[in-house]
Amino acid sequence: MTTTAATEGQYPTASSYYKSGGIDVWTLFNQAAAKAKAVNLGQGFMNFESPEFIKKASQKCVADDACNQYSPPRGRPNVLNAIAKRYSRILDRQLDPASEIVVTAGANEAIYAIFCAFLEAGSNDEVILMEPAFDQYTPNIKMAGGKPVYIPLRPVPGSEDASGIVSSKDWTLDMAELEAKISEKTKIIVLNTPHNPIGKVFTKDELEAISNLAKKYNLLVISDEVYENLCFDPQTPHIPIATLPGMWERTLSVYSAGKLFGVTGWRVGWLVGPKELVSPSLTAHTRIVFTTNSPLQEAASIALEEADSNGFVKDQKIVYHKCRSKLMKAFDDVGLPYIQPDGAYFLLVNASKVEIPDDFEFPDEIAVRGKSDMLTYFFTTHIGVSGIPPTEFYSPENAHIAENYIRFAFCKTDDILDEAAKRLQAVKKYVRQQ
Ligand code: GLN
Repeated sequence: MTTTAATEGQYPTASSYYKSGGIDVWTLFNQAAAKAKAVNLGQGFMNFESPEFIKKASQKCVADDACNQYSPPRGRPNVLNAIAKRYSRILDRQLDPASEIVVTAGANEAIYAIFCAFLEAGSNDEVILMEPAFDQYTPNIKMAGGKPVYIPLRPVPGSEDASGIVSSKDWTLDMAELEAKISEKTKIIVLNTPHNPIGKVFTKDELEAISNLAKKYNLLVISDEVYENLCFDPQTPHIPIATLPGMWERTLSVYSAGKLFGVTGWRVGWLVGPKELVSPSLTAHTRIVFTTNSPLQEAASIALEEADSNGFVKDQKIVYHKCRSKLMKAFDDVGLPYIQPDGAYFLLVNASKVEIPDDFEFPDEIAVRGKSDMLTYFFTTHIGVSGIPPTEFYSPENAHIAENYIRFAFCKTDDILDEAAKRLQAVKKYVRQQ
């Protein structure tokens, strides 16, 4: 073997995938928001105080020596039992905590573990993503050796009202187009309902159409249901696709303690499905993180048990519903339309009427990212309200669909949403009247 000695100041090279060292959109806009002292409605984290029973649960578990050592890779018995109890009800079947659940390091890790378990490394096995698609899916598919294939949700033409507001129900999937995307290589469809960032809650008819294709082509469905609890229209309740006929056998459903209890920093989630699908996912999870942090999974078991009887989950939904109304009103007041979400805690605002002054300066790293980033940056630094550019949730071929939008999160206390509403008044003078 010939070797070349390193010259001074030369570093070993990273893989082509990571070498650019680019930062993620969350960090980029959190930093911009902090610098501009903007009201941060970007990343979806809550600023509510956690309820006492949740704080007490975590304090108790961190102080318990038995909770500060490794847990079994699948999860601790108490939390597996508590998950089995809640989701036996939701999934309408008796779950076996010993074989049909894995506790993961957040929903992100659950989904990555499933990709690793079902995609053959180096084979370019295909995974269908509906766009906009949460920005973690694409890199995770590639890291697991697979290939993402994209199909965009599109607004039904003419579905907007007189002010330009569209219902998230009117962003739909063309099922013939979806079928055309399925190839011999397709192994997985990722479904996200309630949907981030559109807030769409897929209807029974839509889920049935997706199920029929999954069954026809023997596909696995990863159902990201982390916003399971946040559906605002009684006409579109959350329906887990695993409850549809013939779907239990081909679905892994993914949930999040962070979302359910408003503690996104816990990084505790879980996946649920038949043991044939859970078992390879558990093996992958074991090799990725070995086991999820012990104290907070134990705390999640207490939170799940107590939330069962103290009304917390129902109350949360009422709180978020009010937050949604407040943020929608703030944009009504400045004449900017949006996609009215039926679920989750994001508002996609259509800022196509906003005219940014020609002399407004963008840093190069924002300008190269395109219009949605520039609009978001303008709102962050000039109006003082930060969001996330939803084009980040798209492949380059479909990103134009969202180029006029900004995503704002409404999982915030009244004072924050009121301050945002106040600052948003400043955008009025840039809104083109027509
Ligand atoms: N799911 C959250 C959001 O969409 C957080 C995403 C993240 O921080 N990676 O805002």
